[in-house]
Amino acid sequence: MSGETRAWYRELHWQILLGLVGGFATGLVLGEGAGYVAPLGDIFLRLLRMIIVPLIVSSLVVGTTAIGDATKVGQLGGKAAVYYLSTSALAVLAGLIAVNLIRPGVGAEVPLEEVPERLSLVSQSFGDILMRIIPQNPLRAMVEGDMLGVIFFSLLVGLFTNQLPREQRNTIVHWFGAFFELMMRITDAVIRLAPIGVFALMAEVVGTMGVEVFAPLLRYMATVLLALGLHALVVLPLLLRYVGGVDPFAYSRAVSPALLTAFSSASSSATLPLTMDCVESRAGVPNEVTSFVLPLGATINMDGTALYECVAAMFIAQVYGVEITFGQQILVFLTALLASIGAAGIPMAGLVMITVVLRAVGLPMEGVGLILAVDRVLDMCRTSVNVWSDTIGCAVVARWQGYPLEDRP
Ligand code: ASP
Repeated sequence: MSGETRAWYRELHWQILLGLVGGFATGLVLGEGAGYVAPLGDIFLRLLRMIIVPLIVSSLVVGTTAIGDATKVGQLGGKAAVYYLSTSALAVLAGLIAVNLIRPGVGAEVPLEEVPERLSLVSQSFGDILMRIIPQNPLRAMVEGDMLGVIFFSLLVGLFTNQLPREQRNTIVHWFGAFFELMMRITDAVIRLAPIGVFALMAEVVGTMGVEVFAPLLRYMATVLLALGLHALVVLPLLLRYVGGVDPFAYSRAVSPALLTAFSSASSSATLPLTMDCVESRAGVPNEVTSFVLPLGATINMDGTALYECVAAMFIAQVYGVEITFGQQILVFLTALLASIGAAGIPMAGLVMITVVLRAVGLPMEGVGLILAVDRVLDMCRTSVNVWSDTIGCAVVARWQGYPLEDRP
């Protein structure tokens, strides 16, 4: 973060916030008519998605070669895994406590919506997901945006580059280094469009959302939001302060463009280029850490989704009048954690993965139809929490690895 003072309206995070508020108001006023601005949001998302694969590949190769040997990369991976798992577990715990205290589904009269066919098709088993870490064809993984496969292959390229003779190693490091710089510049340019993109995305969502569907689900929404708030505003900032050693207010200001974009797009994958830019350029976390923790985090570290899986499944059980015993709640805890790891960083992925939790405790799959109507709003909130946790993971892992933040926020 630079020390120069600029007029507030020239700061990106204020511009994005204005876009968000303006989009909200436009959606309210224009209603369905807000669909006319939707293409602007699509253009912004397409530009972001365009950068993801080349950015991840170049960033991971540069990051891994800079870290050096495989043992250090392994240590970094181990620390990131400890962070991902423990924060996701804390998130599910917050959800479990809230849903048991508030019991939003008890006595609730909720209309059951039919689950669209396309939703059940996306669901895949956890074993499949593990297998797909190894891409049979790395180019196809890149073309199809299969993130885990892309990450695995890029890591191998980085690790084995370090074993090449010096001259060859340097060629690859220089080439990928230059390519990474190039991608960051394109990212910078796309990010300038974020205020307009966020404006259009918000206007479309608000304009096409029927608010009347909220009424029977208000207590359920409040439970999710309360638990998300507890995790994002209390638990994670405490971790950032005392484990990461960073001031949560300054850090949240630095990464706010990513958080606001995650909110309006409901996709942590699409937000990834912005997240990388914010954490590196604005919060000063070194590339060795961000190149590793963020792409992996956007794919498997989803605190908001983990929490949501648990609250939603328990809510469905309560509406159906099914008593979930303590033993089964442990099962809900574990499957919610696994489902969040398996969920892709795209809109509605968490909703699809709830079927994993429902299956584990023997609840009907159609139960998802109870919560479909309000999923988008909750998706926006949980996606911001997912991205917030990823950015905090960077500060925490950087500290555990002994990397100083270049310019501590
Ligand atoms: N939309 C979320 C994300 O991209 C995933 C989910 O649906 O929970 O992080």
